Amino acid sequence: MLRPDDELVFAPLGGVGEIGMNLSIYGFGSPARRTWLAVDLGVSFGTEELLPGVDLIMPDVRFLVEERRNLAGIVLTHAHEDHFGAILDLWPRLRVPIYATPFTAALFTAKRLGEPGAPDISVNVVPLGARFSLGPFDIELVSVAHSIPESNALIIRTPLGAVLHTGDWKLDPTPVIGLPTEEGKLKALGDEGALALIGDSTNAVREGRSPSEADVAKSLAELVASAPGRVAVTTFASNVARIRSAAQAAFAAGREVVVIGRAMERVVQVARETGYLDGIGEFRGPDVYGHLPPNKVLALCTGSQGEPRAALARIALDEHPDVTLGKGDRVIFSSRTIPGNEKAVGRIVNGLVRQGVEVISDRTHLVHVSGHPRQAELEDMFRWVRPRIAIPVHGEALHLHEHARLARRLGVPEVIECQDGDLIRLAPGRAGIVDEVPAARLYKDGRLVVEAEGRTVPDRRRLGFAGIVTVALALTEQGDLADAPDVELTGIPELNAQGESMAEIAYNAAKATFESLPRARRRDPDGVAESVRRAVRAAIAAHWGKKPMCHVHVLTV
Ligand SMILES: [Zn+2]
Ligand SMILES: [Zn+2]
Repeated sequence: MLRPDDELVFAPLGGVGEIGMNLSIYGFGSPARRTWLAVDLGVSFGTEELLPGVDLIMPDVRFLVEERRNLAGIVLTHAHEDHFGAILDLWPRLRVPIYATPFTAALFTAKRLGEPGAPDISVNVVPLGARFSLGPFDIELVSVAHSIPESNALIIRTPLGAVLHTGDWKLDPTPVIGLPTEEGKLKALGDEGALALIGDSTNAVREGRSPSEADVAKSLAELVASAPGRVAVTTFASNVARIRSAAQAAFAAGREVVVIGRAMERVVQVARETGYLDGIGEFRGPDVYGHLPPNKVLALCTGSQGEPRAALARIALDEHPDVTLGKGDRVIFSSRTIPGNEKAVGRIVNGLVRQGVEVISDRTHLVHVSGHPRQAELEDMFRWVRPRIAIPVHGEALHLHEHARLARRLGVPEVIECQDGDLIRLAPGRAGIVDEVPAARLYKDGRLVVEAEGRTVPDRRRLGFAGIVTVALALTEQGDLADAPDVELTGIPELNAQGESMAEIAYNAAKATFESLPRARRRDPDGVAESVRRAVRAAIAAHWGKKPMCHVHVLTV
């Protein structure tokens, strides 16, 4: 039953304007009373320079917390961290049902059990290709090829039309694992009439088509067969097709497969349970590595992004308890370096090269393909689905814009370029941005989840850049110094260019400033602290060229 004021709306709360922290919501009903459906709840990763001490960045879910009673559930498209990594931290605020296919649910559970103190969250498992209803939303899963098993696009049917939420996808006729993207279902949706396509923009700037996962398998097999010594392959732990290809290459060359790294072990176990490594021989633990002849072993390692605690980083520094590599050995980076990780990966490559290891990457060999659609694949998708509206998501500004251009060129009647927090009415009438919903960021900082707008992280960045001076002043009731000021410098050079003590410069500034204050003002501790703070920062800056933070404590004794 459709009421006259019913609307279908969409809002991205994360993932538009950045790659990561995907969270999309769909709403159906009158503006005063909508039922919501959330798709994915992911994270992005902080960079040490910009966000010191922040491990993860998550979308702010305050809007969904307010609307919790009207939120029918969360559907996960697949098990990449940028789509499901925020559930452990944020689900306790929402407590709504989660739906996922078997591999995604199993990997989530394995991850949850691996984190001490993680909340008890159960996931409703839906089979591949399932069709189920959540409130007014009739949801059908469409299997799509990607770089992890069981990536799903969602057809979301409502009384006001059907939306295709593509999730992460590509076209690959030979994906090694799972079925190729279900072209038939997508064409059928086009015949039925699609209102909107909300889709992956990651590779919209790249021409042509991605090579197939099977091409990578072929090239890995050649590289493993021709290797004279040990071989280590590093890839994203979740790329089960790649793990399968590397293992097949190893077994074909008479090598044992040794799995190194917790994340890889976890994925391998889940892939065995869910059947994605059927027909592949057993893998070995790291303890046997040292006992196998060099040409009889292939190590599958975590750490393709240069993560300092992962297996490959420790091997490159020759610090791994079980695994060493040396002259004549070959390391294959079956991965792409995510922008921002170049330095970390470079450190590892250099460490390996210094040990005489041959390093092979996608710079010279077809050892990696992306899991996202290039332009020709996007064109196929638009031709099959023929949506009235296109909304690019999952990308930075450039990716989104190129995707929008392509959609316009293909004749999609309405193309909406939006940002996180825009509320877009899809139907009835012409599509457009009609409102805003709160969309900010949260940081995982140690064990806490904090609001990104807070002072903590900017303070930490300033501390890292220019240190801190701490001054303590003890005053008598009459407003005299009871003792010499106490000054402590942290993260500030000890001496200036003339070899004078910076601590003394700060001390003199604090003392002189205090003594210059009229007696009446000395009885106002906040006023004293502020004057001393300014003077000390200015004095240090005059010698150093940088202004430190300064804390002044005034106590009356
Ligand atoms: Zn993905
Ligand atoms: Zn993604």
